[in-house]
Amino acid sequence: MTDCLFCRIASGEIPTTFVAQNDRAVAFDDIHPAAPTHVLVIPRAHCADVAALGARLDDLAAVVQLAATVAEQTGVATTGWRLVFNTGSDAGQSVFHAHAHVVGGRRLSPNAG
Ligand code: AMP
Ligand code: ZN
Repeated sequence: MTDCLFCRIASGEIPTTFVAQNDRAVAFDDIHPAAPTHVLVIPRAHCADVAALGARLDDLAAVVQLAATVAEQTGVATTGWRLVFNTGSDAGQSVFHAHAHVVGGRRLSPNAG
């Protein structure tokens, strides 16, 4: 039992439909989609944010590879997509288990702001 929401999703404790998965990462639809495609990709193992994920190269690679798979599956690989890791309060990070947002399916703003 853990207090981390995304650990509980990754372990299956909270039933969630995975749109894709590999041995080190799982992907599921964001509950509040900001675009036609908005999928979260998380490492199965807990780490707080992308800075910590960067020290775990196998998990980082698995997350990025699964994001690319999601982009293919959802049809945005050809139209374009964005991979976002919000980190810390100014970026609006609300869940402190590293997660990548795969966003696409519409024209995205050209800047990060
Ligand atoms: P961030 O603001 O980068 O920390 O992103 C957290 C994201 O998790 C938000 O976009 C939320 O909509 C999403 N989220 C929170 N709880 C759930 C959940 N149970 N299932 C799917 N997405 C969730
Ligand atoms: Zn966690």
